[in-house]
Amino acid sequence: AKHRGRNTWCFFEQRMTERLRERSSLQRELAHATKRGQFELAFQPRVHASDGALSGYEALLRWRHPLHGNVPPDVFISLAEESGLIVSIGEWVLREACAQAARWRAAGAADLTMAVNVSPHQLRHAGFAACVQQVLLETGWPARQLELEITETALMEDPREVAVLLHRINALGVRFAIDDFGTGYSSLAYLKTFPLHRLKVDRSFVQGLQVEGSDRVIAASIIALAHALGLEVTAEGVETADQRDFLREQRCDELQGYLFSAPISAAQCEAWLTQKGI
Ligand code: C2E
Ligand code: CA
Ligand code: CA
Ligand code: CA
Repeated sequence: AKHRGRNTWCFFEQRMTERLRERSSLQRELAHATKRGQFELAFQPRVHASDGALSGYEALLRWRHPLHGNVPPDVFISLAEESGLIVSIGEWVLREACAQAARWRAAGAADLTMAVNVSPHQLRHAGFAACVQQVLLETGWPARQLELEITETALMEDPREVAVLLHRINALGVRFAIDDFGTGYSSLAYLKTFPLHRLKVDRSFVQGLQVEGSDRVIAASIIALAHALGLEVTAEGVETADQRDFLREQRCDELQGYLFSAPISAAQCEAWLTQKGI
């Protein structure tokens, strides 16, 4: 058994080494992905809970690698975070998302919001506020219609400094949403110190809505408390009509999930917009 145990261990060690090698090779490739044109944005529609009308999109990054195929964001975003590449990649995402939104606006989609994910590393980077300002200027996308999604972890790492930064960017008109809300450790009372516009109820609570009584209570409480603090609420990962109905009853403001649409390409968005006559 001991022998077997050792073999198993060797096997794991080998796999681990392979994984590490794969990660560092992916990391090298990531450094070239932008200029090789391997990045693309997908856009997931967000709808008003009350009537199902389109309220905007969340931009989600896709990496199409010629050999590895589609590398999942959960894999390459963490690689980009570790290496600091997320700063330049994130800037690309922001510029591309705003430029795309501005083109749709020119074509008639007037009041949509574009939501862009911002990672903790990006937020800590000294040039971030200037970058946001620059992108808005270049693309002509209205600051009011840009929403930056950040996680609780990003806020809590250095709350005082982050609060100053967010206030500075918020002064431009840009809004902030807390992503994956409920999975971190922040209290709602504490969140009051940041200029926030929205909470996004994490998918894990939405997924548990039918089966778990406790998830219903958590989701309902997040919505009620957020409203009491003057924040809007978006539920993410809505997949079923039952989930939608419950969230609507609880007066959740916006819904996002496969029930309405998966993330789609820019071309598909345009087709959606024309079809809906927006
Ligand atoms: P997130 O910001 O929480 O994005 C939502 C994720 O849930 C997306 O996965 C989306 O495709 C998926 N999703 C949407 N609706 C449903 C649904 O109804 N059911 C299920 N099961 N999933 C749904 P995706 O695109 O794979 O992105 C994963 C994560 O990678 C994102 O989570 C975000 O944290 C990160 N990410 C993606 N793009 C960017 C980016 O441009 N910048 C940064 N910093 N992070 C990004
Ligand atoms: Ca997000
Ligand atoms: Ca999320
Ligand atoms: Ca998430």
